[in-house]
Amino acid sequence: MNQGAVFSRTIRTLLLVVAVVSGMLGGSAGAKPAATGKPGAPAKARSAAKAKSAAKAGTPAPVLVPAPVLASAPRAAPGKAAPPAVGTAQSGQTAPILRLKVAEYSGGLTFRMPQGGGWSLGGKTGRLAKSDRAEVTAHLQSRARKQYHVVVESVPMRDPERVVDALAKWRATGRPIHTYQVGRQSPTWDGRVLYIAAGLFPTRAAAQKLVDALANGGQSSWIFEEPLALAKGTIALAVNGRRVAQGAGPLGLTPTRDLLLHKVEHARGYRWHGRADRLFRGRLAVSWGAQDALDCVLTTDLEHILAGVVPAEISAKAALNALQAQAVAARGEILSKVGLRHIKEGFDFCSEQHCQVYAGDSEVTDRIAAQIAPTRGMILHAADGTILDAVYAANCGGRGDRNDLVWNSQPNPHLVGVWDGPHPPALDLTVETHVASYIRFPPVSYCQDPTVEGGDKFRWTRSLTGDDWKKVEAAAGVGRIRQIDGFERGPSGRLYKIVIHGETGTRTVMKELKIRQIFGGLRSACFVVTWERDAAGFITGGEFAGAGWGHGVGMCQTGAQYLARQGWPYDRILLHYFPGARLVRKYR
Ligand SMILES: [Zn+2]
Ligand SMILES: [Zn+2]
Repeated sequence: MNQGAVFSRTIRTLLLVVAVVSGMLGGSAGAKPAATGKPGAPAKARSAAKAKSAAKAGTPAPVLVPAPVLASAPRAAPGKAAPPAVGTAQSGQTAPILRLKVAEYSGGLTFRMPQGGGWSLGGKTGRLAKSDRAEVTAHLQSRARKQYHVVVESVPMRDPERVVDALAKWRATGRPIHTYQVGRQSPTWDGRVLYIAAGLFPTRAAAQKLVDALANGGQSSWIFEEPLALAKGTIALAVNGRRVAQGAGPLGLTPTRDLLLHKVEHARGYRWHGRADRLFRGRLAVSWGAQDALDCVLTTDLEHILAGVVPAEISAKAALNALQAQAVAARGEILSKVGLRHIKEGFDFCSEQHCQVYAGDSEVTDRIAAQIAPTRGMILHAADGTILDAVYAANCGGRGDRNDLVWNSQPNPHLVGVWDGPHPPALDLTVETHVASYIRFPPVSYCQDPTVEGGDKFRWTRSLTGDDWKKVEAAAGVGRIRQIDGFERGPSGRLYKIVIHGETGTRTVMKELKIRQIFGGLRSACFVVTWERDAAGFITGGEFAGAGWGHGVGMCQTGAQYLARQGWPYDRILLHYFPGARLVRKYR
């Protein structure tokens, strides 16, 4: 919600995979070749010693091993006080406390505390009764300042060899580069990541020009928005229409139990965009942020967040084992990204698609909390002992894809894309004719059952003509389009590069998300097209036939729900989608 959907999603996906290779635990070298484990083997708890010997023998089985706890140093945002420590360094074995931005308001907001509670602002404190209606008004005095880095590569700092190699590679191009370090280091892990950037700009538009120029040369890149200073202004609090306090913020809110925020905007940039009242449990701080608006930041523990994230990211009606698999995946995804998101913004994650969707507390989240409780603290580890960023998407279409082709990230041996069915077919989906056959005559796949949520997205068609095609031409920016070719595909058949030849120039589009977006938001980049042309030979539209929904990396959420229904336990489901990974309990 902070940036346009295009850029925020890109930043999300890139940072997300950066985190995979960076990991949270120090001490080991970079990503190692894939282990040759049997994905899908049933998991059993074993001793750490057995786990080690199994790994040495080259047949890693899913095992439970004690793992060092996450720890990290507090980090101050510009203009904000140091946040509470994130991690479990002090307490040792409990769920980490995280700061989640749950709402953003530009003008002001209203809220209630159904069981009462306290507030603090501008040196004053007070109480709110359960019937009190509170109103916050905001006056912006100075806008946030930002600069924009065009990042071409990101490398985990705990792998110095790879850092040296990457820098040497970029220096050899003769292009001026600079670096920017994100993430945190602690005595138990090195989560720092080095961004290698090819340009630094005062505006996003200027940065985008370089991104486009690089793409035409076959180099993908993305824009990292760095806040230099947060917005400043005043915040006033009124209770039942009477002003009680005013100050620069933050406004601190400590409900006895629940806090009801009215009209929270969500899914900005998506078709299902809207506003809804949302209930939150935990401390909330309201302060000026990087988007020239008031940020509402909830401080709570990871397990509490997961109970809200799981039903938002997968159907709340999914079978128990699928909910549990989703909880483990989301826990690892979140833990692997602590310190790598929303740099200098004063919180760890947002609650939108950019990070992970979170809609607060409800009866559903109470039920989910009980259902996922047996997985408390469980995550997947990569073969090198780092936390696996266990990404997921709605429907793989029958085959998953590689993280490094979908995002600008280092190849991850656990995110290589698996066939999502019992009998892998003899198809090479990087070959056009094979993709056409795969889309028309799908192999038997776990994600094709239309009675499972998402199963209807296994295969799709979309027709673009008339006004739709004019929008494609406008987005491509090379006049009328004569030809689209240069297709390059990953193992799932998803395109990661296309070349658009138009009247006024040629444009290369890189990465699956940008390819989906340029055609007006396709469900996936695994598609074949029959073009329609006018008498002069220009393309006027196309009939698209495709497979899957989403990026296709990691766990297929439709397949996971199907397998759960077939009785697969959550660990077996996870190890099917993340071959060679290990199940670990990070905290209790
Ligand atoms: Zn976010
Ligand atoms: Zn699938």
